[in-house]
Amino acid sequence: MELEDINTIAVLGAGNMGHGIAEVAALAGYDVNLRDINEEFVQDGYDQIEWSLGKLAENDQITDEVADDTLERITPLVDVEESVADADVVIEAVPEKMDIKKDVYGEVEEYAPDHAIFGTNTSSLSITELSEVTNRPEQFCGMHFFNPPIRMPLVEVISGAHTADETLDLIEALAEDVDKSPVRVHKDSPGFIVNRVLVPLMNEAAWMVYEDEATVAEVDSTAKFDMGLPMGLFELTDQVGLDVGLHVQEYMHETLGEAYAPCPMTEEKVEAEELGKKTGKGVYDYEDGEGVQIPTDEGKEWISDRLLAVMADEVAQLIDDDVAGPDAIDEAMKLGAGFPDGPAKMADARGLADLFEALEDAYDESGAARHEPSDALSGFVDEGGFYGPSEDDGELEFETIRLEYPGNMVGHVVIDRPHRMNTISSELLSELSEAIDVLGDDDEVRSILITGEGEKAFSAGADVQSMAAGGADPIGAIELSKQGQDTFGKLESCDMPVVAGIDGYCLGGGMELATCADIRVASERSELGQPELNLGLIPGWGGTQRLKHIVGEGRAKEIILTADRYEAETMEDYGFVNEVVGNDELLEKALDLAEKLAGGPPIAQRFTKRAMLAGRDDTDAGLELEAAAFGHLMATDDLMTGITAFMSGEDAEFEGK
Ligand code: NAD
Repeated sequence: MELEDINTIAVLGAGNMGHGIAEVAALAGYDVNLRDINEEFVQDGYDQIEWSLGKLAENDQITDEVADDTLERITPLVDVEESVADADVVIEAVPEKMDIKKDVYGEVEEYAPDHAIFGTNTSSLSITELSEVTNRPEQFCGMHFFNPPIRMPLVEVISGAHTADETLDLIEALAEDVDKSPVRVHKDSPGFIVNRVLVPLMNEAAWMVYEDEATVAEVDSTAKFDMGLPMGLFELTDQVGLDVGLHVQEYMHETLGEAYAPCPMTEEKVEAEELGKKTGKGVYDYEDGEGVQIPTDEGKEWISDRLLAVMADEVAQLIDDDVAGPDAIDEAMKLGAGFPDGPAKMADARGLADLFEALEDAYDESGAARHEPSDALSGFVDEGGFYGPSEDDGELEFETIRLEYPGNMVGHVVIDRPHRMNTISSELLSELSEAIDVLGDDDEVRSILITGEGEKAFSAGADVQSMAAGGADPIGAIELSKQGQDTFGKLESCDMPVVAGIDGYCLGGGMELATCADIRVASERSELGQPELNLGLIPGWGGTQRLKHIVGEGRAKEIILTADRYEAETMEDYGFVNEVVGNDELLEKALDLAEKLAGGPPIAQRFTKRAMLAGRDDTDAGLELEAAAFGHLMATDDLMTGITAFMSGEDAEFEGK
């Protein structure tokens, strides 16, 4: 069967996940049979889909017509035979109980067409065991959506022991077609990728508090504000539900061994029906207390190391077991858990040898199986990291960019391919990404300046020639788009201010790069634009999403849809360029600005950037971060330095403390 042959999808279970999966599939144009055990339950699911489509239309994410058509494609059913008789794919999202699921597959096998593929949304049960209930184990795999399916981009596509490669390929293609990002999990291993990394992390957090090593505030402050995770670990625990978390922990304990023993604190809370947000109380108290309160400044380095070490050990075992490679694991954690960077990358950046030692020290003290470093982790320490040895031992050698330190606390990235109009290749993206890490880790650097070598171009865009050499390879192109989105996103979310100094052409990918700077200065002769549509392409490195935040959606559409070239002055009117300067003074002015920003208060700058970015799609999240940061800044030395200097009319010398 090919993707084009899939017309009808049966979704079994209209609960939390089932109704969301049905909505996603119908939105993508599939006919969906939504089945639950009685009229009331299936109608409930259907009503929730109607409500959700209404919301999407209200927010202009879809038109009313699309909402109506989508709903029309969904048929609520109770009869099993009717629901699967014409299904090409059956996605099962019934309760997480082996016996219930086995019963369901027994029944479905009887009525589903022979060609139909079965995908289970199970979070923790054995896919192999489930597949063996059917007569088509090779047409059976895991298709693990995240909650809520309508918003979460990740789908883990999991191979059971009998799954055919064609089944996995097809389900991956289907996941992409319903606008999700699949990550392949090569083995039916407990927790797959995301839960396998996340659940032990939440468990370790609980153990640290249970054993009086740390407080809830310290752990969550470390996770959220030092490691940059989207939530505190207890905040996440409460959101997921302690009972749901415990259920997976128990399963991992049973299947993977003593290292996964659940913390008694979790068991006690579940016993007391303190299940998290849904019951009004979990680790935090949402009814009588103030809910989640996470201080910004109680993070501890040793806690961060411990958490990173625990994650690194899971990553090591997953790779060693051939469940997934470091790239897939990192991708899954970013998409499925909102991590700012993948755990393998984060662990490598911290230094795997140090993390190994942190875990070993904890083991010496606790003797607990969960702290005993695995042989797999030890192996990766010997190899110098998950991605091999880092190259920052002394001189950094870049081919496509230069890293310079021209002035007071400024790190200067020069795009160094003047012979090719400073166009951006995949190699340049990798090097830029590395350069951002290097500058981020350098205490002496407080702002970044980016310019292009020579007078012709800041960057004339993507290096189309080097890309075309790869042939028309859609998969490669998607990967390249993601690589650019990620690298530029890294620049956009980097903690210090970034200035783009634009001289000459700033087109396509070059403009998308400049978009991720905080402030743009351009010379008079510069020409800017997003010409991709002239080539029958679209801006693929974030342009369709990020530009509108600077110039507004109306102008962004104009710039992208006309594909015109604009003079620097027009772009200044549009608000894209902050300042236009004479051709000969570009570098000087841009550097002055970068130096000025480097002299600003680093912590306040960091939180300003984070709050603005967090609030972009979610104003409440942004406001929350803003308020927390405001509180944090009140207690810094920088504030006193700033006030004293302001009173005396002198320049402040901020120390970032
Ligand atoms: P849920 O309890 O909200 O929904 C399950 C639904 O299945 C209920 O409406 C129930 O009536 C129905 N059902 C029971 N027996 C059925 C049958 N024989 N045929 C059809 N429907 C039947 O549960 P959920 O949270 O949607 O979880 C469903 C599955 O998705 C589980 O395997 C779970 O592990 C997995 N999952 C859940 C989440 C999550 O965050 N909730 C995330 C990923 C995966």
